[in-house]
Amino acid sequence: MAQNLPVLGDTAREELSPLMERRLGEQIMYIVRRDPDYIEDWAISEYLNRLGNKMLDARPDARGEANFNFDFFAVRDPVLNAFAFPGGFIGFHSGLILSAQSESELASVMGHEIGHVAQRHIARMLAAQKYDAFIPIAALALAVLAARSSPDAAIAVATGGQGLAIQKQLNFSRDAEREADRIGFLILRDAGFDTNGMVSFFGRLQNSMRNYADNAPAFLRSHPLTSERIADIQGRVADQRYKQVPDSLDFLLTKARIRVLQDSGAQGLIDARAWFDQALRSGRAEDLVMAYYGLSFVAMKQGLHSEALRYHKLSSSIVQKSESLAIQARASCMYICLELEIKLAAKQYDDVIRQAEPAMKELPLSRGIVYLFTEALLNNKSPNRAENFLRDQISLYRTEPKLYKLLARTYAQQGKQALQHIALADEAAVQGGWSAAIHQLEIARQQKDASYYDMSVIDAKEREWREVHKEELAAEKKQSKHAQ
Ligand SMILES: [Zn+2]
Repeated sequence: MAQNLPVLGDTAREELSPLMERRLGEQIMYIVRRDPDYIEDWAISEYLNRLGNKMLDARPDARGEANFNFDFFAVRDPVLNAFAFPGGFIGFHSGLILSAQSESELASVMGHEIGHVAQRHIARMLAAQKYDAFIPIAALALAVLAARSSPDAAIAVATGGQGLAIQKQLNFSRDAEREADRIGFLILRDAGFDTNGMVSFFGRLQNSMRNYADNAPAFLRSHPLTSERIADIQGRVADQRYKQVPDSLDFLLTKARIRVLQDSGAQGLIDARAWFDQALRSGRAEDLVMAYYGLSFVAMKQGLHSEALRYHKLSSSIVQKSESLAIQARASCMYICLELEIKLAAKQYDDVIRQAEPAMKELPLSRGIVYLFTEALLNNKSPNRAENFLRDQISLYRTEPKLYKLLARTYAQQGKQALQHIALADEAAVQGGWSAAIHQLEIARQQKDASYYDMSVIDAKEREWREVHKEELAAEKKQSKHAQ
């Protein structure tokens, strides 16, 4: 981790620019995505991003002057916490999502975190530091990353006094918290959620703090909750008309998936199953759909495919009895795709391909069906069809790392080695992993099947990336020389 460290450079001396802030965020995410606790589940990230973008669309000014593309994600961690990284990256612990009793509650924390990003609180804290401007971005990234869960870890990560200085400042000030609450409240209200959700959830978080004594949950440590803050929020809510907002089906299904994915070990799956069995006692149709969906997902993870399909049928029989659930289910990729996921796991690739095609037309924006369809094509040994499909997808979604990863697998299946490594280079590049990207180009260049045309693509990409990221790559070179 110590090598390949880009530096902030001169430009950051006075202020962390929005561009630099974004790069810092990308560097952090590059590390986070490789963490085993990062929940790589397209359905959950699709849900969180849809919810987050719904909130941002209600208050476009919350995107800030830099107009960041936000990225919302989940990590496996039972501690009640949510956190924002510079540049618009917002993470939720599985424990926090599971403890949200309503979608409005989850949205209230999301609004608060968006408020921190909109006001560039972390970026401003970093800019206000008196640290050496040549502290590597990756070291800053690690410091920010470590500080989110353990205040002491940041000190160990960055060197000497610098790390200490950064860590001290990473606890938001009271003013920053109030500002994030205020913005979060406006977003929550304008996006049509129940603003009481903010009072109830924050109040519950504060109560839970009493059980922790000195060991307060991280959300409360990094976002200290005071009675004064809660009173402030209560004051704002009092001016609002009471509004009942039903939870979306996807909110319930997201919680079901997280309950399974937070611990997919043998015992974790048994525990999740017991929890869903218990939930079957509820009289509410929504709870039953969620419980059968969860049981189906657990069975799939346990390799019990016919049982998984049976539970899925049980959940759809309940869905069909309720008009509102049926409407939501038809529009929910998370719901529709579970059947495809099970069939993919059961190696019924023809079925997946046949069912995915009309589903993609039905839900053209869903990314999940795209991945499942491609997986089925690759497993069905149809790489040529997968290649054409992925090229079309990439022309629409140029910055989606997963598409390049699938394309690399496709080329590997076709035995096209140079192209495989070009795709891997693209996968790293769209995530800001410049040194990994350039390294993959080097490998591509050495492949025997690299055509004249491939070589010119490789050269053009390398030129472009080196030009745009001159500073970071030069610093890496210096660092690696130093390390030798
Ligand atoms: Zn906060």
